[in-house]
Amino acid sequence: MDDRSALTRLDRCVAGCRACPRLVEWREEVARTKRAAFADWTYWGRPVPGFGPADARLVIIGLAPAAHGGNRTGRMFTGDRSGDVLYQALYDVGLASQPTSVSADDGLELYGVRVTAPVHCAPPANKPTPGERDTCRLWLVQELRLLRPTLRAALVLGAFGWQAALPAFAEAGWAVPRPRPAFAHGTRVPLDGLDLFGCFHVSQRNTFTGRLTPEMLRAVLSAAADAAGLRQPSLRSRRPLLHPSPAGSPPPPPPSPSASAGSAPNRCRTVER
Ligand code: SF4
Repeated sequence: MDDRSALTRLDRCVAGCRACPRLVEWREEVARTKRAAFADWTYWGRPVPGFGPADARLVIIGLAPAAHGGNRTGRMFTGDRSGDVLYQALYDVGLASQPTSVSADDGLELYGVRVTAPVHCAPPANKPTPGERDTCRLWLVQELRLLRPTLRAALVLGAFGWQAALPAFAEAGWAVPRPRPAFAHGTRVPLDGLDLFGCFHVSQRNTFTGRLTPEMLRAVLSAAADAAGLRQPSLRSRRPLLHPSPAGSPPPPPPSPSASAGSAPNRCRTVER
């Protein structure tokens, strides 16, 4: 199985996961009741897989989908204010085809970048429990293993993502220092063959208060893109350096519930290289 098809299969498995009862109940309840502004939407209401090409050189790791963002649109950071900030910055530094991300079929392409999260279901109050974080880590570990042949940099948004990502990198085979490096905005930690960057999360709490400005985000993104070898002159014309994600492709359909039910994300454990 090549990397692209393995990642597609992983994404399908993620989208069918029901391992966390509290999150399954919440994401589906939100999808039923909706926000008034999105009453005409059919919410995704499932785990949101990562978004971006299988040969990504840079991975961006957030926290979890937003109830009315990714949980509505089915694509990471799509349809909410955090995503507005992130994708504008990706576009500004030449890593996205457009500055907006509003729906899974809006034509957005990422150039050498994959966006994912350590928790794939929208949590109440944007706060997954440590147990939910640990349960979901299996998916991130498998995703990182599949990306490893091309992955050269990672940008982690926020302390929660940092704490979740370090064990995942270790489990996926990278040598993570002990004691584990602390999260800080702008921090850069060399792992073997990969540079790990920390950045404040693009949450409204950070961007509205000025704790994270567009300039700060672009600076960290640019450093991570340089470390990944993505900032070539050709990118200045916004042409893809690597294979972009399929234009406008919606998230893959999940497997049938019977293939994904269980107390742990166990039925797809074989999605490994
Ligand atoms: S393990 Fe991840 S994808 Fe599965 S239900 Fe929990 S949060 Fe969602």
